[in-house]
Amino acid sequence: MSKIVATLAIQGAAKLYAQAFDSLNKAIKEKGENQKIGFPETAFYLPMANALLGAKVETLKDALPILEHAKSLIKEVPSEKVWLPYLGDALDAGMAALFCEEIIVALRYLYGIDPEKDCVGFCTDSILRQLGIQLVDGRMPGVALILGAAPDNKKAVEIVRQLQEKNILTFVGSSTNGRSIIDQLLEENVEMGWENYIVPYGRDTISSIYVLNFAIRSTLTFGGIKAGQAQKCLAYTRDRVLAFGLALGAVDEYKVATGAGAIAMGFPVIADTDIPEIKASGVTTYEALVKELDYKKIVWRALEVRGIKVKVSNIPVPVAYAAAFEGERVRKEQLHVEFGGKASTAFEFLSTGKADELEDGKIELIGSDIDQLPKGSKSLPLAIIVEVSGRKMQKDFEPILERQIHRFTNYAMGLMHVGQRDMSWVRISNDAFAKGFRLKHLGVIIHAMLHQEYSAIVDKVQVKLYTTQSDVDKLLVHAKKVYEERDERIGEMTDESVDTYYSCLLCQSFAPNHVCVVTPERLGLCGAYSWLDAKASFEITPTGPNQPILKGSTLDKRLGQWENVNEFVKQKSNKSVETVSMYSLMDSPQTSCGCFECILAIIPEANGVMIVNRDYSGLTPSGMSFTTLAGSVGGGVQTPGFLGVGKLYILSKKFIYAEGGLKRLVWMPKELKELLGDKLKKRCQEIGEPDLLDKIADETNATTSDELLSYLAKVGHPALAMDALM
Ligand code: SF4
Ligand code: ZN
Repeated sequence: MSKIVATLAIQGAAKLYAQAFDSLNKAIKEKGENQKIGFPETAFYLPMANALLGAKVETLKDALPILEHAKSLIKEVPSEKVWLPYLGDALDAGMAALFCEEIIVALRYLYGIDPEKDCVGFCTDSILRQLGIQLVDGRMPGVALILGAAPDNKKAVEIVRQLQEKNILTFVGSSTNGRSIIDQLLEENVEMGWENYIVPYGRDTISSIYVLNFAIRSTLTFGGIKAGQAQKCLAYTRDRVLAFGLALGAVDEYKVATGAGAIAMGFPVIADTDIPEIKASGVTTYEALVKELDYKKIVWRALEVRGIKVKVSNIPVPVAYAAAFEGERVRKEQLHVEFGGKASTAFEFLSTGKADELEDGKIELIGSDIDQLPKGSKSLPLAIIVEVSGRKMQKDFEPILERQIHRFTNYAMGLMHVGQRDMSWVRISNDAFAKGFRLKHLGVIIHAMLHQEYSAIVDKVQVKLYTTQSDVDKLLVHAKKVYEERDERIGEMTDESVDTYYSCLLCQSFAPNHVCVVTPERLGLCGAYSWLDAKASFEITPTGPNQPILKGSTLDKRLGQWENVNEFVKQKSNKSVETVSMYSLMDSPQTSCGCFECILAIIPEANGVMIVNRDYSGLTPSGMSFTTLAGSVGGGVQTPGFLGVGKLYILSKKFIYAEGGLKRLVWMPKELKELLGDKLKKRCQEIGEPDLLDKIADETNATTSDELLSYLAKVGHPALAMDALM
């Protein structure tokens, strides 16, 4: 059986090699061998060649040895008589195919051909980091790579919706007989994009390399594996990157060769045609190549073969419900009704009620529903009032639970929720309305999801929805008072005021030695876990990733070192980290996994530090972009002078306290300044440097070291007069 596969894979790889060879030599002739090549916003050159061969391809010339290597992997087509017991030759051909494809698409970038229309093409490191957290916390249980086209548009939508309902990140592309699933979905108006978990990569099989070289980068970004450690990389993708291929329609040599490459990475391939199956496991966790001709079963079969477990939430609402719909927007043309935003007053408020007065599951609507809108109007005021009770419920958990309303309601297809508290904005689409969605379903969702995710702390949930202006106004007065009290309480919490910190080990599924220690004044580097979040999460799952760490005796107040914190980190980092300073960038800083919101980096010549956020793509005075900087931080190792942090840590009184705090900050992107806005100004005042914000350079006045130094001198930045950093 595997002979047919090997034959096709070898033939496909040979064709890809010929194409890569011709294109590369043509490019060398036209542009010279020193012409630079590469992909946008990555620290990993041509990632497949970098990860597996350790090669740093920067110019056309550098790609030549990669091609040579690919050629050496392409064996003779097996003769009729030979029985091939192993997959070996097919896998080698598969790897060769991937190296060649990567060179071909890099050349397409050079000539401005890719990314093609409607497609993302190369996926940046920054997106990978952003997705990291969703992949580790289970919101995204797996990744699908679809190649080809379904027999008809309806089936294409059906397959993709099934994947979406299971929150699988789905890459769509390639073609069958000149038809691509991308166009099938476009014709059916399926909303695509990262936020919808459906990502079009390109219309030919070659461009599927964008997905595979995205996957291989996770080994370097999160796994702490060094470029060139091929076996480790492939074991990592097999064991930790839960991806699979779905080949739709007839397969040709290109698809087989690429599929063999995917299998070599540990990703099984499922086809909807009568292909010879490869049941052997080892290279993949279970079967390597299987067929499933029934479209109703194909997605389940794929999940089974890849060993992906999905938690399906059964929420009794008349629309589809899954995390994959979280980012879906409801545009004006689809709008049935909206609440909040510019349209009306809306807010949401969750508080603890008295257990004996609450009736679990009771949902009341006080006012008119969305099928009784005033004529010509598309909005109503709205107050969502949630009351909960539970033996383990604490007042401190109220804001955490309240914040989940955003996520919970967004998961419903045809619902959009933006903001929180009295800044919320909710939209319901015509489609959702037509399917029977009414206001009480908001309550159904909140009730069901609070039970599903927070049953350890919540016993009863009751929801009231108000839609008359006077009710909403009246209730809002009280809510606002409580919002303020909460802010004050959180503002007052300090590291000294508690005796227990919390760990977060979620990212260990990707970065096995990484440990986040979360304190009241320093949140997790992904920005998603504050001390209160971690505390609540521990109450919910006492054996989960957030464990209490009783600080124990203080070893160093300035650096932020405690006996038990060190001991805990040592244990949980598999003995790879001995000491960790919570407040220092230079001396035993915390490790970074890969999903940090910002990177702090020293600028020795300025005697200061800079910080750059993930969304800023330009150059920084360190001479590197976020992406390049990020490439040298991560994988669960300590890198003094470089540190991944959450955005809000900048506002903390413990922000690199050991190095002198905020006064050390000499550069940050303008958008980050604006984002932190008044709060950052307030911090500057508190430290007695009211003008500091203006003295901190941004990209409008410095993007090189020289520009930075002259700017700092001109404005008299305090870092220049501080103790030497190194
Ligand atoms: Fe990962 Fe740290 Fe965020 Fe936890 S707090 S999810 S370990 S980055
Ligand atoms: Zn992480």
